[in-house]
Amino acid sequence: MATDTVVVATFTNQPEAEAMRERLASLGITAEIRRDNVGGMYPQLDIQEGIDLVVASETADAARQAIADLQTETAGPPWTCPACGEEVGGNFTACWNCGRERG
Ligand SMILES: [Zn+2]
Repeated sequence: MATDTVVVATFTNQPEAEAMRERLASLGITAEIRRDNVGGMYPQLDIQEGIDLVVASETADAARQAIADLQTETAGPPWTCPACGEEVGGNFTACWNCGRERG
């Protein structure tokens, strides 16, 4: 990009980063995925951390807002663990009580 860019989010896996990039694109915000080179030095470790989503600085505020909105949507309502019956907050992907993955 010719303009200054700002990291508006960091993801731990590529699909999440891609999904957010597409979301921003649908809102007219051009974002790019920039992956740390850390994994390149140790490819055998398959490091999945540090996938940055960057946008032009002038769209950073809008991008952050869109990301916050989407993360709120994704969190959704609480769910009930099928294994132990515990009510788990929508932002958890696994039961905090017994560790079962959300089904
Ligand atoms: Zn549970």
